[in-house]
Amino acid sequence: MKDYYDILGVSKTASDDEIKKAFRKLAHQHHPDKKGGDEAKFKELNEAYQVLSDSQKRAQYDQFGHAAFSQGGAAGSAWGNTGGYGFNTADFDMGDLGDIFGDFFGFGGGRRKEHVAKGEDLAFEMIVDFNDSLFGAKREISVARTVSCGHCQGRGAEPGSPIETCARCQGSGQVMSIHRTLIGNIQTSTKCPDCKGQGRKPKHVCRTCNGPGVLKERSTLEVNIPPGISDGGTLRLGGQGNAGLYGAPAGDIYITIRIRPDKIFARHGNDLVVRVPISFTQAVLGDTITVSAPDGAYEVQIPAGTANGTMFRLRGLGVPYTNRSGRGDLLVHTDIIVPKHISRQQRALLEQLRDEKL
Ligand SMILES: [Zn+2]
Ligand SMILES: [Zn+2]
Repeated sequence: MKDYYDILGVSKTASDDEIKKAFRKLAHQHHPDKKGGDEAKFKELNEAYQVLSDSQKRAQYDQFGHAAFSQGGAAGSAWGNTGGYGFNTADFDMGDLGDIFGDFFGFGGGRRKEHVAKGEDLAFEMIVDFNDSLFGAKREISVARTVSCGHCQGRGAEPGSPIETCARCQGSGQVMSIHRTLIGNIQTSTKCPDCKGQGRKPKHVCRTCNGPGVLKERSTLEVNIPPGISDGGTLRLGGQGNAGLYGAPAGDIYITIRIRPDKIFARHGNDLVVRVPISFTQAVLGDTITVSAPDGAYEVQIPAGTANGTMFRLRGLGVPYTNRSGRGDLLVHTDIIVPKHISRQQRALLEQLRDEKL
């Protein structure tokens, strides 16, 4: 898949303004309704812009690339039962881009394009044990969210009741008001309060959900933590967020992973570092030592004359890669231990070594 920054022709450090400008320019150039337009290219631009114009999605993309958005419902993770909180992500604000698409779709004048407000995204944080972050796990989470009302099938109307054009806005979903200012009258449009911008509303409101076609619910969802997930990594559960009003698509759930640090292993990218104490004689004479890795114990040859702090690399015993097969390495860091207490016999032997200038 192509890099979103490349698609828009901007640098990774581009400001929001630069991203918007680049998108405007390219969207004009490639719009499929234009002569020489290119629908595939236009879609690609849209996709890139939807991610990079949203600070949260952009941060996820910077960290995980396309994987951040392709995990779908299968992605997942573990977690305590702390509930969560909802927030609004401005999902591709068409109003903001009205001047681009105005030329093509006739916004703000002619026929109103059906406005479908996607349900809100929900965000959670999940604390994951170190070992689960390495090898993956399945967890259940309890989520307070809105779901589509079964009685009205999300329509918001009693079964059999028609959905009629809103009388207040005449179906436009917008109401106009005129403000007098020094430079003349300014006409602004706002969302119609009667139909909440839908342009249509039910004749008889659904008695179960009382209107917008959604009900509050606490649901238990299964989340798969993929092996090798990083601290701060985000999982996306597509379509599992709040239900959209009047049957619109549901939002997504984003779960940010926090990994509990381990007492033995430190993680550096996909490598794991473990510190192993060895004695002075093991360092000088060499030895075979047993090193514990997260998935078992392994023997490591310490060659004669090993210096303090020498690293031994055990290939493929580190953290699994999320974007390809294989694992990083286990780095065994040797610490030569100087004993604080020695026996009389050890002292006599060491004094002999000293006399031998060792
Ligand atoms: Zn209305
Ligand atoms: Zn209902």
